[in-house]
Amino acid sequence: MTLFTIKQIVFIGFLIITFSTFFFTTFKIYRFFKLTKPYPIKDFGKRFLVLFKVAFGQTTILRKPVVGFMHALVFWGFMVILFGSIEVVFDGILGSERFFAFLGPVYNIIIGLGDFFAYIIFFCIIAFLIRRIIIKVNRFEGEEMKAKSHRDANISLLLILTLMISLFFTNIFYIVLNPNNYSGVFPISKYLAPLFDGISYDTAYFLHELNWWLHILLIFFFANYLPYSKHFHVFMSLPNVFLSRLEPLGKLDTMESVLREVKIMLNPNAVIENSIEPASRFGVKDVTDASWKNYLDALTCTQCGRCTAVCPANLTGKKLSPRKIFIDYRSRMKELGTLIIKNGKDFTDNKSLIRDYISEEEIWACTTCNACAKECPVNINHPTLIIDLRRYLVMEESKAPTLINNMFSNIENNGAPWQYSAEDRLLWTEDLNKSQTN
Ligand code: SF4
Ligand code: SF4
Repeated sequence: MTLFTIKQIVFIGFLIITFSTFFFTTFKIYRFFKLTKPYPIKDFGKRFLVLFKVAFGQTTILRKPVVGFMHALVFWGFMVILFGSIEVVFDGILGSERFFAFLGPVYNIIIGLGDFFAYIIFFCIIAFLIRRIIIKVNRFEGEEMKAKSHRDANISLLLILTLMISLFFTNIFYIVLNPNNYSGVFPISKYLAPLFDGISYDTAYFLHELNWWLHILLIFFFANYLPYSKHFHVFMSLPNVFLSRLEPLGKLDTMESVLREVKIMLNPNAVIENSIEPASRFGVKDVTDASWKNYLDALTCTQCGRCTAVCPANLTGKKLSPRKIFIDYRSRMKELGTLIIKNGKDFTDNKSLIRDYISEEEIWACTTCNACAKECPVNINHPTLIIDLRRYLVMEESKAPTLINNMFSNIENNGAPWQYSAEDRLLWTEDLNKSQTN
């Protein structure tokens, strides 16, 4: 008696290749994360609330009722179908069929929902492809949306479509093979299975195996394709929403190193926390100056363009697209991170995120209105990164638009943003006194 069948051995081989490749990619990304700056995370209770509301409840995406609801259906469907995919892995390794069937009614509910969602997702993906390829929705276009971005999106959608087709055909031929004693509930496939009643057992068996293998091999391929595509949000959106910024939109982060210097200046005897290191860089010039959370945001961006579509700077023709900020960040990290890992942490290629990727014009076009951050379905916060890019320009290069430089001079000289000296501040009251005397 052999321990494993040929099918199990082949399956385990594919599984090992999948996990090894995925581990290799994850390790590479982890090394990129190590190049970034710390970002403290606290308030875990609140984070779970945000996760349930924004991620599982899909509240941001549902602001657009029709397309938002379709996206939400795809997300909820994936959650349910994931259970079936895990079962396929168990079946593949153990040589079993419908491993979790022992769960009884719970199994029936999950598998039933999975069958239902496979068809729903199929139709939603068709609609998404029509929106992208035929209708060409405006927010999918833009300077930063290169041919590769469109190709990548279409490939991912076609992969999901094939995943769903192979899933419901696996279900249909499973019913055809076991018409009276199948495990689980298949609310839609059971009505389609009779269409194949005339085919032989061998043909049904072949078609079941074909779709079963196609489905799981596509999942293995997809898992390794995602980290290189814009659809990486399939993995990253839940952690990114959980770790999202909890401060009110618009609240600026205090630069602790600057606060420390100000405290020392105001009171040289002040007790200063030793844990606050003097800054080696003010603001963000390149990707390694930004926090790991900025990189997580960049990896999570779905390139949906909802942020750019509401950006007043973009809408009024300024050279700023909040989506581009994170696309640029991800590209720059791929470029610089790879070089640093190869040549050591002090390596420089004499390029930077500012100017080589994001121009000063873009950085200063932002009104900091936070509409982008409010609209982003995966809670990416653009203004905080834009402010940090500005902080670098102002604090290290003394570079700001003339109007802002004038304001800085006025604050320095007059203690106020206006060009009048402090002594003249109450001059306007003189006329007031005269008119009262009269
Ligand atoms: S930052 Fe958010 S809203 Fe903007 S394209 Fe990326 S996922 Fe969409
Ligand atoms: S905060 Fe800046 S980038 Fe975001 S929507 Fe407003 S102007 Fe555009």
